[in-house]
Amino acid sequence: MAELGEPPYRARQVYEALSRGLVTDFAAVTTLPLALRQALAERLSPVSLTEVEARVAPKGTARKTLFTTADGHPVEAVLMLVAGRATVCVSTQVGCAVGCAFCASGRLGLRRDLTAEEIVDQVLHFARLLHGDGDRRITNVVFMGMGEPFHTYDETLRACRLLNDPDGFGLAARHISVSTVGVVPGIDRFAAEPLQLNLAVSLHAATDELRDRLVPLNRTYPLDRVFAACDRYVKATRRKLLFEYVVLRGVNDTPAQITALAQRLRRPLYHLNLIAYNETGGAFTRPVAGEIEAMRDRLERMGVSVTVRHSPGGDIEAACGQLALRHEGG
Ligand code: SAH
Ligand code: SF4
Repeated sequence: MAELGEPPYRARQVYEALSRGLVTDFAAVTTLPLALRQALAERLSPVSLTEVEARVAPKGTARKTLFTTADGHPVEAVLMLVAGRATVCVSTQVGCAVGCAFCASGRLGLRRDLTAEEIVDQVLHFARLLHGDGDRRITNVVFMGMGEPFHTYDETLRACRLLNDPDGFGLAARHISVSTVGVVPGIDRFAAEPLQLNLAVSLHAATDELRDRLVPLNRTYPLDRVFAACDRYVKATRRKLLFEYVVLRGVNDTPAQITALAQRLRRPLYHLNLIAYNETGGAFTRPVAGEIEAMRDRLERMGVSVTVRHSPGGDIEAACGQLALRHEGG
């Protein structure tokens, strides 16, 4: 606006039209004079991602969209409609440098970090879809798509603040969750943030011996350090902390892992989510019917607060990274 010789409040009008009015075209920013709309359209693109492909789960409970960035990178996000909630799962990076053994995103390697605008645009895309469908709204955003949010901490937090901004998209911070694989300095920074954001930690194994193999970052931040940071987080925030555990049949659901898991997680404010592994063409298998529930029951009897999370996106390759990988011929 300064370049165009316009007053600063014009920028705010554009920001509000994009984030609250959900417009995708400067021509639709009717609070601006026509000449200014045209000048902006010649210089800028109001949307950073282009939709390439969308897949809808049979009962319409999940919709996965593959986008491309302006420089041609694949980005994917998922909308889940479950129990009256509309949750968007966003990606923070193209690929991921961590390379967890069971995760498709890791197999892409890290191409680049996404900007906060590219993260927010994934949410705005689905917000527009829902708005057109009986004026429904996005109720939750989870940072659980491709990438490790705490490897791009500043853009992740900037995206959280943009989504939360009461003058912008206006989503309550307690309806935003960030998932980390256990980047200890990130957990400590996050604990000190003034916003009431939620944190999830991806665990996947209860001993260093196994976790070293499943989550290579465990060699840098082993379990004792991760749990020390988790304790600091809970002490500082008094908020519930969620642990995610992708159940790999015969690998991390053994009696020894369950016992070790219970020892680690029997704490106030700790909660465990068990997730059935979505097959990604790797060496692991998904637990068969009833196995995950049996594991949950065993952990419950050992005093762990635990639930099974049912992912509605399994049949549309909604495990993170799957669609992007296929798109690249991986
Ligand atoms: N990098 C962050 C956030 C993205 S991954 C993290 O790891 O926490 C978000 C979740 O998707 C993680 O809990 C991860 O374990 C899970 N996930 C990855 N691959 C999966 C698969 N094949 N099946 C089921 N869940 C998977
Ligand atoms: Fe990266 Fe998370 Fe996938 Fe691990 S599970 S490779 S940290 S995106």
